[in-house]
Amino acid sequence: MPPRTVPFLDLGAINARHAAGFAAGLQRVLHSGRVMLGPETEAFEHEFGALCDSPHAIGVSNGLDALHLVLKAWGLGPGDEVIVPSHTFIATWLAVSLTGATPVPVDVDERTCNLDADRVAAAVTPRTRALIAVHLYGRPAPMDALMALAHRHGFKVLEDAAQAHGARLNGRRAGSLGHAAAFSFYPGKNLGALGDGGAITTADTALALQLRKLRNYGSEVKYVHEVAGMNARLDELQAAFLREKLPHLLGDNARRQALARLYRQELADTPGLILPVPDDDAHESVWHLHVVRHPRRDELAQALQAAGVGVLVHYPTPPHRQGAYAHQPVAHNHLPVADLLAAQVLSLPMGPTLSDDDVRWVCQQVREACNRLR
Ligand SMILES: *Cc1c(COP(=O)(O)O)cnc(C)c1O
Repeated sequence: MPPRTVPFLDLGAINARHAAGFAAGLQRVLHSGRVMLGPETEAFEHEFGALCDSPHAIGVSNGLDALHLVLKAWGLGPGDEVIVPSHTFIATWLAVSLTGATPVPVDVDERTCNLDADRVAAAVTPRTRALIAVHLYGRPAPMDALMALAHRHGFKVLEDAAQAHGARLNGRRAGSLGHAAAFSFYPGKNLGALGDGGAITTADTALALQLRKLRNYGSEVKYVHEVAGMNARLDELQAAFLREKLPHLLGDNARRQALARLYRQELADTPGLILPVPDDDAHESVWHLHVVRHPRRDELAQALQAAGVGVLVHYPTPPHRQGAYAHQPVAHNHLPVADLLAAQVLSLPMGPTLSDDDVRWVCQQVREACNRLR
């Protein structure tokens, strides 16, 4: 028998469940003769907006463009400050930099890996125009407190919901919690296309209209360009594939939540291992990633890879230490929590097609490796 392995993410198995639905979507697009901004995109926008409890959804090219388009629509530019979490995928920061505004990082809460409102409050200045609240790893950020700050100081809040399709805070869905939200349909996300894709949700009708123009060269009527827009459209084929997967999203999320509970049970009291904060009455994570911490993370990761367990690090280098920001003042910021998390976080296998038995076996490998590292 070949040695047992559990991959980090089995995208092949996840998408194989939808082979027939994808084929039907391809046929619809072929026969419609529309490949861009047609009936599939329009239908997907309605269906995705409904899932997010949001009156408007706008399909776009990817998650980075979704973030960037909203900041652009809000008119942000040089001299403006946008508060961002210190610990996130770099796209959160890059969206700000693309507008010419300055990303102002705030260290996250070590326990939740998300922003906390007290630290954000301390970073607000007269130049603060917006805040990007990332629902990292699928867990909703403390939006009530962040929105209260935003109202007090008059800035906008953009949810980076790229890892949080379907997540809930006090029963309300990610995508309906801020002034606008950006989603990614990168293949590995909880709702993933077969290529790049993204969406913006908002309850602001004027903003939605502006975004529909901005994603399409600033145009609503062909060859009439009211604003300087971008080419940032979702295509019909990806929209058709996403429509096939969307009805399965909440079921897949429930499966991830069950696996997170199993991980919690199987890894309780493992020496040196810090488990992610569990869900509570207010916070319903969709467990995009199951991220543990260990002071000797690199050795643990190596041991698990050698044992056949696929693991990854999200993220090994915080944005302020990346080459992309090396020549900016932010490179000298003191962000100890971001540095600590970058050194300690480890993502274990997670996905809707993973079996209980796989997770039990993975946990056994984790316990054995942690015992050896004691
Ligand atoms: C994936 C991701 C993005 C970017 O989405 P793309 O579709 O890859 O551009 C932005 N923010 C976070 C938190 C992400 O995980």
